[in-house]
Amino acid sequence: MDLVQAINTEAKQRVQELRQLLQKASYAYYVLDSPIMEDPVYDQLYRELQQLENQYPELITPDSPTQRVGEKPATQFISVRHNVPLYSLENAFNIEELKAWEGRWRRQAPKVGEVEYVCELKIDGSALALTYENGILTRGATRGDGVTGEDITQNVRTIRSIPLRLNLEEVETLHATSLQRIEVRGEAFLPLEVFKQINQERQKAGETVFANPRNAAAGTLRQLDSQIVARRRLDFFAYTLHIPGRDDASIANTQWEALELLQNLGFRVNPNHKLCPSMDDVAQYYEYWDTQRLNLAYMTDGVVVKLNSFKLQEQLGFTQKFPRWAIALKYAAEEAPTRVENIAVNVGRTGALTPLAQMRPVQLAGTTVSRATLHNADRIAQLDIRIGDTVIVRKAGEIIPEVVRVLKELRPDNTQIFVMPSHCPVCGQPVIREMGEAVTRCVNASCPAILKGAIEHWVSRDALDIRGMGEKLVHQLVDRRVVHSVADLYSLTEETLCELERMGKKLAQKLVEAIAQSKNQPWSRVLYGLGIRHVGSVNAQLLTQKFPTVEQLAQASSAEIESVYGIGEEIAQSVHQWFDISANQTLISRLKDTGLQFASTVEETQASQSHQKFAGKTFVITGTLPTLKRDEAKTFIQKAGGKVTDSVSKKTDYLVVGKEAGSKLVKAQELGISQLSEEQLLEILEN
Ligand code: NAD
Repeated sequence: MDLVQAINTEAKQRVQELRQLLQKASYAYYVLDSPIMEDPVYDQLYRELQQLENQYPELITPDSPTQRVGEKPATQFISVRHNVPLYSLENAFNIEELKAWEGRWRRQAPKVGEVEYVCELKIDGSALALTYENGILTRGATRGDGVTGEDITQNVRTIRSIPLRLNLEEVETLHATSLQRIEVRGEAFLPLEVFKQINQERQKAGETVFANPRNAAAGTLRQLDSQIVARRRLDFFAYTLHIPGRDDASIANTQWEALELLQNLGFRVNPNHKLCPSMDDVAQYYEYWDTQRLNLAYMTDGVVVKLNSFKLQEQLGFTQKFPRWAIALKYAAEEAPTRVENIAVNVGRTGALTPLAQMRPVQLAGTTVSRATLHNADRIAQLDIRIGDTVIVRKAGEIIPEVVRVLKELRPDNTQIFVMPSHCPVCGQPVIREMGEAVTRCVNASCPAILKGAIEHWVSRDALDIRGMGEKLVHQLVDRRVVHSVADLYSLTEETLCELERMGKKLAQKLVEAIAQSKNQPWSRVLYGLGIRHVGSVNAQLLTQKFPTVEQLAQASSAEIESVYGIGEEIAQSVHQWFDISANQTLISRLKDTGLQFASTVEETQASQSHQKFAGKTFVITGTLPTLKRDEAKTFIQKAGGKVTDSVSKKTDYLVVGKEAGSKLVKAQELGISQLSEEQLLEILEN
């Protein structure tokens, strides 16, 4: 078989796998209202299929998920045909793709100059088509496959924000026209609070919970008992107005006017829509709502960008599946599928062997991800990850990417099971895994990987902060056996450095200066730099406040160390054991000889004792902070004289805000309470 044929066979197999999985997912999603995978994962797999089909058009089949509009509706309700189909929307995942869409529609309408766009939030709910005759709601239908939906009028009537009768007179007088029949489209959705409550109730009753508000809304709309629907408190935002058999322009020329009209007729229109005169404005709107949407009471998964002019909309028309004049600009997915190409093993500064998944690069939360830690052998076994598997990776905010699960449905026959090596891949010495520990370690103290890690940690920003000492340089120093311990850094000369690759005289001089300057760094940073297990920069500060000299700390018993507020048994033991090891004592004495700080200065001690910056101030902490645990942040504030309470009130002075802050943030905003990020909090404390 030649190479081209082999690639074709592989593509063919992948297309088949993807199709089967997407079909299964689509059925679970649309018909059962119970998805088997997350939306962004579905979107990515769908794109992969689309790309393969573009590359190999001979593989396209009429039943491919890319060729159909939606899943057939369930059969409990009477089917109804929509007068005008409810199309889906094309997706874009970033501004470049949005601009490519602009390029496409402009090629189709080359004479069009400047245009306006209407940006609307993409509400994550379920589309409804409502029919009004002489101002009275006569039918409410689901989207179904876009052409045929289900008549759920009884259920639609229970939604309070859908008018049963329109304010026709006022509108008809204003526009001097009569509106005998109109169709309104919009999104039925469940507010997040209600969604959570429903899921809590379902969990208590032992029922399966809804995966997301969209499925909960779709599931609710298709309840056979309208009383249940009524209790679920669905809400509705209208976004499209059709006047069948009539030229809509006689009453509205633009989407903007249509939204206004919908409001005048008595509908709830999402208040956050915006008229954007340029693509830059669209991009700004998209960026603004990327973070702001998290404060909304309902779920959104993107922005819908529509050309404002109805005339232009008409000129552009529709493809088989989408309008050409609108696009859904979705927010960067925090989860995506990709393939594990290899599992490598990394040795860190503690000697821990960490398996690393090397994956086909994938866009995640705005960055390209190609590696993710698999933590340890247990984790790999638990997830049952094999080389060759398709996995789902997640990267939420600043969190390091992680593999969430394996899509076993896509597992090819030739996957390879990972085995943890019995010898260190760096120094070749046997590795050990202690009883009850998940981690396999290299215990060879002179293993170059451990030394490299120790030096990288020593020079890092929060430790001795030696600028210019990057990873590559550290590796050279260790590999060429110039440096055998962090203490050796302090005897480096310009001449020795100049012998290294890509090292000029100027750079060498700067480095020697930076190393010398690090001798002024405070004792807390030195302690952190030593890389004692469990001693992060926060713990190092707590310890040096209680033990102002290295001797005091080295002589302290575990119990004495544990008596420091915020320091637990595990940390105390780790510190105590570290100072007990003679090699570490030698290291300390060598480092002391270089002139590094192993004691707090009088000013530092005084400052830490009278650190009453927050005296009389009340704080509330909300959300996940980037580096500090909540208890750690609390300790810091308390040590500076502040008080930390659980709920926001008028008495709160500051709200410390982390990721995924919820109702506390909303309340603080309402009360106009000052907000601090973790960074700002630490900055105030450090100054
Ligand atoms: P879509 O959800 O990407 O976009 C179209 C829909 O957006 C419209 O039907 C409408 O309901 C909604 N919408 C919200 N606000 C709007 C506004 N202001 N203006 C216009 N429309 C607005 O497309 P779709 O065809 O409904 O569904 C496809 C999507 O469903 C996929 O991208 C995928 O994320 C999801 N899906 C997931 C699975 C799964 O297994 N998780 C399976 C199938 C489909």
